[in-house]
Parts: sequence; structure tokens; C-alpha cells
Amino acid sequence: MKIHEYQAKDLFKQYGIAVPDGVPANSVEDAVKAAEEMKSSGTSLFVVKAQIHAGGRGKGRTKKNNAKGVILCKTIEEVQESAKALLGDTLVTIQTGEEGQEIKTIYVTDGVDIENEYYVGILLDRAKSKNVIMVSTEGGVEIEKVAEETPEKIVKEWVEAGMDLQPNQARRLAFALGFEGDAFKKAVKFITALYNFYVEKDADMVEINPLVLTPEGDVLALDAKVTFDANSTYRHKDIQALRDTSEENPIELEASKYDLNYIKLDGNVGCMVNGAGLAMATMDIIKLSGGEPANFLDVGGGANVETVKNGFRIILEDPSVKAILINIFGGIVRCDRVANGIIEAIKDPEIAKKVEDVPIIVRLQGTNAEEAKVIIDNSDLNVISAVLLKEAAEQVSKVLAA
Ligand code: ADP
Ligand code: MG
Repeated sequence: MKIHEYQAKDLFKQYGIAVPDGVPANSVEDAVKAAEEMKSSGTSLFVVKAQIHAGGRGKGRTKKNNAKGVILCKTIEEVQESAKALLGDTLVTIQTGEEGQEIKTIYVTDGVDIENEYYVGILLDRAKSKNVIMVSTEGGVEIEKVAEETPEKIVKEWVEAGMDLQPNQARRLAFALGFEGDAFKKAVKFITALYNFYVEKDADMVEINPLVLTPEGDVLALDAKVTFDANSTYRHKDIQALRDTSEENPIELEASKYDLNYIKLDGNVGCMVNGAGLAMATMDIIKLSGGEPANFLDVGGGANVETVKNGFRIILEDPSVKAILINIFGGIVRCDRVANGIIEAIKDPEIAKKVEDVPIIVRLQGTNAEEAKVIIDNSDLNVISAVLLKEAAEQVSKVLAA
């Protein structure tokens, strides 16, 4: 689950992680009011930042007004102009794709003098089954580039799950960034607090790019990208409350309401599968036979009429779907029951209309697979049965070519 920069920074403050002051705003008036209040408490430079669930905002441009996603402002009038330019416009960055994301909120924050920029990231290193903290002196630029071209410039420390980040590890990281004296102590405190935040809040990624050193010797997070493990938010009501569903893909959002695991992809073959591993294998085989999966969809163990119906509804919301491959393994849930469920689901008038021009290939394997095939073959619907997965994928290619 993603959150906005301003939300991440609010959480950081609770953990003693240093950030510049700032106020989110949803209207030009609120942005001006925020800037006026900040000015009266001593701010002389503002930065207005688009709040979308994507990075690369500084280099991004909005579609209508061609405004940058991060704008430095010297006066309240400039804050007002920037707010006008950003709010309601669509920001396109390397992370949003061409369609971009609409800016509904901006963040008016203190402009900070930058002496030096750094990178700090924390995530799970799956290969080592440990958390990894990565730092680099090459902050402010794309870290992927640094990793590719000059990997020696990224320094890492690993922490066993259930263990704390050790003081000597935090010191080694701060040292690797070249901090000295008071700033060194601040950097150690920053990294330690950030790690505690990551663990206690069940974040699955925290990325600060850039972390900065100011001429006054302060160490601050200028940017904050945080994602949480969606399986853990039930135990963090405060994090749950930060979910901004308007930033999420509408079909994925609907699928989550049905408890379906759905991820939209760019192809034209819809897939309905039970089990994540089988779903991955199904997507692979579609690709191998020359198709492109339109989605990942795991309907889970049940595969009853209701889940199949919901699966159809979700898949068919995507207009690029030209064929559907259903690949279900019947173990505890018998294939003949699944087959009847599929037929019943397709007869639902709402679904029937949508699948008129979308051939459905069904491959059921497992208990009572033969009976299931007979049920599918004997139906007068636009459904084709297949026994082998490869055969199913070839059927898909065939109907797409027809
Ligand atoms: P993104 O990563 O989405 O481009 P950032 O928050 O990193 O957004 O902002 C882009 C750049 O803008 C930063 O690398 C930094 O140089 C500058 N910047 C961001 N916030 C501030 C701030 N509060 N004061 C001064 N400069 C800032
Ligand atoms: Mg950044």
C-alpha cells in the first residue's frame, strides 16, 4: 500500500526522523493560507510539491500547464501560481506512464538550502531473507542508474528479522556517507529511527532520495517514499486511514473488494486461475504461445459461482481483453462443480452480454476433470475446453488469430 510524501513525513515526525515543515493543501486558497502561516513563523523559501503515488516528480511535467511537479517559490504569489498550475492538472513522470496522475493534493513545504544530497533506502532482501539498509553518496539521482553503473557507490548493511539495527551498523552507514562531527551523530540517529519506523509499521519499503545535509549542519529527509505490506495494515489502524483509493487502479480496487488478487497488465488475454503459482505458470504459457496476458488473477481456493462471476466482472472491465483463459485445478473443489459454476456464471445476463465476442477457453484439471470436460463441451456457450495447459494456450492463440 502506497502513501503520499506528506503522510510519510507526518509519520516520520512521530519517530523523530527529521523533515522540513510543511502543510498539505487541496485548494489554492489553502495553499496560500499555509504559506502565509509558514512565512509568519520565519519561512522565506517555499517548495510546492505535487502529491501523487509516484516518484520522479521533480523532472516530471504536467499535461495542461507544463508545470514541474516540484516548484521552488520565493514569494506567496509564486506559491499561489504554482498551486493554480498543479491542482487538477495531470503530472507525467517516468513512473506514472504516459497517462500520468491527476494532482488532487499539493504539499507546501520549507525550502531547504542543500549542502549535499544522499540516498537512504530500506527494504527486504529476499535473496538473503534479511532487511537491508542501503545508502549512497549519489543522492538526488536515479538510484537504479547508480546500482547499474557504479554499484560500489551503494553501501549496505543487513539486519536479521527480529533483531535491531546495531549501533555499529548505523555508524558504519553514516561513515560511508562521509558525515563528520555533529552531522554524523544526526545521521546515525536518522538511520536508526528510520529503521525502527520501517519495522514497527510493517513498511515494505522506505526510500529517502534525497536525504540532505544543510549548511547549518542539519540532516533532513527532503523526499519520502514509503509503502506498507498490505497484509499487515489490519494491525495498524493509523496506516489504514492513510489509504488513498483515488490513486489506485479502479479495477484493482474493485477486485480487492471481492477479495480477489488482481493485477492489471498490458496484454489482451484475460486469465482466471486458482493459486498464485498456477497463475504465474498460466501467464508464462500464454506468452510462450505468442499471446500477452491482460492480467494476473488468483481467485483463491473456492472457485465457486460467485468468485467466478466476480472474476469475469473484473476481467471484462478491461476493454483490451479479447479472450479469456480459465485454468483451474480442482482438488478439494471438484472440477465438475467448477465447470457448472463457470457455465452458470456465463449465463448471468450481465456477463453473457459482455462475453458474446470474447471466446473463453477452459482448462480444468484434477478431481473429476473428465466429467468437467463433458459439461463444458456439451454447453451451447462460447466456451472451448482444453486438457493440457499448452493446448489451452494454443487455443487462445488460435481464437485471437481468427
Ligand atoms: P521526486 O523524487 O518525486 O522528483 P523530490 O522530493 O525528490 O521528488 O524532489 C525533487 C528535487 O527537488 C529534490 O531532489 C531536491 O533537489 C528538490 N527539493 C525537494 N524538496 C525540497 C525542499 N523542501 N527544499 C529544497 N529542495 C527540495
Ligand atoms: Mg526524490
